[in-house]
Amino acid sequence: MSLVVMIGTSGAGKTTFAHRHFAATQILSSDAFRGMVADDANDQSATAAAFDALHYIAGQRLAAGRVTVIDATNVQRPARAQLVRLAREHDVLPVAIVLDVPESVCIARNEERPDRQFGAHVVSRQHRELRRSLKNLDREGFRRVHHLRTPAEISGAAFEVEP
Ligand code: ATP
Repeated sequence: MSLVVMIGTSGAGKTTFAHRHFAATQILSSDAFRGMVADDANDQSATAAAFDALHYIAGQRLAAGRVTVIDATNVQRPARAQLVRLAREHDVLPVAIVLDVPESVCIARNEERPDRQFGAHVVSRQHRELRRSLKNLDREGFRRVHHLRTPAEISGAAFEVEP
C-alpha cells in the first residue's frame, strides 16, 4: 500500500506518466483540484484550498486502503512533508517517483502548451528546487525513491502493485 508522490517540474511529464501507469481515479492532480475549487486549473491563488481538498481526499482513500498517486510538482520540501505525514498517519508507505527531465526540454514542451504561459523562469526555479531536493528524499521519509533520469528510464518504467 503506497502513497505515490510524483516529483518533477512543470512539463516533466508527471500527468502523462501517472495516467500511463495508474487508473484515473487513483490520481489526485493539483490542477484538477484547482479547477474544482476555483474553476481554473491555473489559478495559483486557489492553491491552498486545492491542496486542502486534495489532502482530504487522499486521506479518505488511504484510510480505505486505496493506492493513491499525487500529481503535483512537489519540488518544495514542505509540500512533500505534508504528504509523508499523511502517509504515516494512515500507515502506508510514501514512495517518490522523480521525473528528472532537463530544464530545456520542459521549457520547450511548455511553450507548446496553451495552458502553460507562465514563462521559463518558473520552470527554472522549480528545477533548482528539484536539484536541492534530490539528495534528501530518503531522509524526508520516502521509503522508496525512483529517480528516473533518462527518456528510456521514463518510458521503460513498470510498476507492480503488490497485494
Ligand atoms: P504540469 O506540472 O505543468 O502539469 P506535467 O509534468 O504534468 O506538467 P505533462 O502534462 O504530463 O507534464 O506533459 C507536459 C507536456 O509534455 C505535454 O504536452 C505532454 O504531451 C508532453 N510529454 C509528457 N511526457 C512526455 C514524454 N515522455 N516525451 C515527450 N513528451 C512528453
